Amino acid sequence: MLRSHSGITTRVDFSADGLCFDYLHLPHSTHESAYGRLIMPIVSARNGDGPTVLLMAGNHGDEYEGQIALSKLARALDVRQMSGRVIILPMANFPAAKAGKRTSPLDGGNLNRSFPGNPRGTPTERIAHFIEHDLMPMADYVVDLHSGGSTIAYMPSVVVVGGPETDGFQARLALARAFGCPDCLIFGTDRAVTHLGSGAPGAALRMKRPFIAAELGYGGTLQHECLELCERGIRNVLMHAGIFRGQPETSRRMRTLRSDSEECFVYALEDGLFEPAFSLGDAVDPGSIAGWMHHPESPSREPGEYHFERAGIVINRLFPAAARRGDMLYRLAVEEPL
Ligand code: CA
Repeated sequence: MLRSHSGITTRVDFSADGLCFDYLHLPHSTHESAYGRLIMPIVSARNGDGPTVLLMAGNHGDEYEGQIALSKLARALDVRQMSGRVIILPMANFPAAKAGKRTSPLDGGNLNRSFPGNPRGTPTERIAHFIEHDLMPMADYVVDLHSGGSTIAYMPSVVVVGGPETDGFQARLALARAFGCPDCLIFGTDRAVTHLGSGAPGAALRMKRPFIAAELGYGGTLQHECLELCERGIRNVLMHAGIFRGQPETSRRMRTLRSDSEECFVYALEDGLFEPAFSLGDAVDPGSIAGWMHHPESPSREPGEYHFERAGIVINRLFPAAARRGDMLYRLAVEEPL
């Protein structure tokens, strides 16, 4: 029995050979269930000594490709064909994933803003603490499967944190290449310290583990081609790690893009219905019209016009038409060949 500082326990013996479907237990005492627990799925598959890959999905609960790809993988694993270990967390922020929400309905927690977590904190903070301090140290590679969720349309991408070679950048980039997604987004090290520091990439940087995320699909739905890309990417990573036999299937050159500067973003300054002028993957010029904010409740009012400040490739746009002041309307990235 593993008893972590976070209060999470599990009967999984991560050092045992074989395929084990079990649960993480986190005490959660409520009016409705005095001695209740959150019972969260985890899978461990091991065949002898060798590398370990930690595969996570459901970090944001309204992102489904990874959750399905990982449960499909777990059922299909033949441990006799493996060397090493795979640890699978298909619904990382379990309460959020169960509710189909980005954040946890129990505490409002966004798991990907909760690292390094708090072992005496809210459920989301305890889960973050367990992932960073108990699961990541067991892993040689960490993969966190995302999509854009309910509100952001995302160009299918693999994501790595930038940084000097000494910080493991080349290992992350090799993992991203192995994943086999045609586009790779590199987020800068300054973001790694601030925003990403509280995300899973920051946790992996602290634990010195090669880490990639993937952004496959969006809109709170499931896209077949993104699920395929996700499933192929996972197999490729397991081959890259040497756990599966064979060579990663990577069909074409990987394009590398950076999205760090403030000028990459366009934000809504008013509520309204946003008409986008560009689609994901489009190239835009500085000053070009990004879209129009309409106000059908006042039909005589002219729509607000939004512009791009710089040139780039559209990697995100707001998914719902109904925009609120402060919503991100667009995000650009700039190609940077490596
Ligand atoms: Ca996400």
